[in-house]
Amino acid sequence: MITPEEFANFREQLVKMYHLRSALAVLQWDEEVNMPPKGATFRAQTTAHLAGLLHQHFLALNTNNQLEKLKAAYDANTLREQDSVVVREIWREYEREAKLPEKFVIALAQTVSEAHTHWVEARKTNDFLIFLPSLSKIIELKRQEAELIGYGANPYDALIDAYEPGTKTEDLEIMFAELKDFLVPFLKKIKQKSAKPIISLTGSFPLEKQREFNRLVAQKLGYDFEAGRIDVSAHPFSTTFNPLDSRITTRYSEKDLFYSLSSTIHEVGHALYEQGLPPEHFGTPLADSISLGIHESQSRMWENQIGKSKLFWNYWYPKLQKTFPEPFANITLDDFYVALNTVKPSLIRTESDEVTYNLHIVIRFELEKALIDGSLNPKDLPEAWNQKYKDYLGVRVPNNREGVLQDIHWSHGSFGYFPTYTLGNLYAAQFFAAAQKELLYLNSEITRGNYSHLLEWLRKNIHAHGRMFSANDLVQKVTGEPPSSRYFIDYLTNKFSQIYFLSTIIAR
Ligand code: ZN
Repeated sequence: MITPEEFANFREQLVKMYHLRSALAVLQWDEEVNMPPKGATFRAQTTAHLAGLLHQHFLALNTNNQLEKLKAAYDANTLREQDSVVVREIWREYEREAKLPEKFVIALAQTVSEAHTHWVEARKTNDFLIFLPSLSKIIELKRQEAELIGYGANPYDALIDAYEPGTKTEDLEIMFAELKDFLVPFLKKIKQKSAKPIISLTGSFPLEKQREFNRLVAQKLGYDFEAGRIDVSAHPFSTTFNPLDSRITTRYSEKDLFYSLSSTIHEVGHALYEQGLPPEHFGTPLADSISLGIHESQSRMWENQIGKSKLFWNYWYPKLQKTFPEPFANITLDDFYVALNTVKPSLIRTESDEVTYNLHIVIRFELEKALIDGSLNPKDLPEAWNQKYKDYLGVRVPNNREGVLQDIHWSHGSFGYFPTYTLGNLYAAQFFAAAQKELLYLNSEITRGNYSHLLEWLRKNIHAHGRMFSANDLVQKVTGEPPSSRYFIDYLTNKFSQIYFLSTIIAR
């Protein structure tokens, strides 16, 4: 039997770990936002030391077999419901961590740190061969990791599990096959229709005005500036230090207003999730996000379903025209909307539109899987990459810098990460369809710049649960169905059939 005192003591240990994690998050945020370049070397030592302490705290959770006793109580079903969630989730992390010998963890950390430098150099000089040796090493280590963790049907399962617990390779294969079957022909149809007046949305946008506009939008969406702030970094991200401090970063381009605005809305979506987690449970999995896919569903919904919709711009476009009369004063809302949503197959994932985005992910998923199961030799990766870009997107890759070397993920050892972007898109479409069904006035509210009911709905149905449910169970609970690619396919079909005058609108 676990006494209430014992559980309180366990919780206290989790909160102490949370404080350490919070300190680490502040340091990492500072590194990307403020730190002068010369500070990097000593800072890396500080972070490594704190990360080591955190790891020790984590393993110490099982001192005197405390964690095993809690797990036994969980198995015997003698814990209170909320406590059982805490134990289930901590045990899952602990089991994974405990399976990786320290020697392996150190080897991976060293390889990844070298690989990153090689990747930067390879990308700069457009020379894949500079990156190849460390990439091969990482793949070898990731295959070892899969063996150490254990898996059912596919070694890749063990890697995905770190980012999207419970999701199997087979689920992803089905999902990506459905998407590919839809997207490839749909894209072909769109490409045949591209002969329309093409309007450029670029111009000259003073940064100060952009900052103000970004802030205005973030505030209106519900981002609490008393519990967060927006800064600038090379790669936008969101981070949380505590329940009342969730920050985001963005980036600016003088020429392209949407370079900052899209990523601001995206990161606000992440931060709204964090700001909606129940503060009374802070430090425990009950106040933590479920998975990368669910996190991404929140950012994508605000960025795309809301931020790239006509309804959204009904409210914001007159304000945009007033703030930036050049070039918007002479562009109608209809033309602006079409220009904002132009579909154009391209080489770079992070600059792609809603239709082509997931084809970039399909490609990465298929390649990662083949690298991990050994059917693709890393030295043949560029060729395989280029062939898939030709087959799926119809584009020729002119060099490796804009091809296989474009993403940082593999140099970090993040295999199994990419699919969570697409899962996020699918969850977003399915959640949003459910919200539209339940919130009768949602469309007219968005037209008036009012998002409070939508945010309340997300808080109540998604954010408030922390990690109470798995991603699959949450989707089932909120939408009444298991995760499906259908809602996303319907969403794209309807939206882009209207924009491109295709006769394929689906009404469900
Ligand atoms: Zn994101």
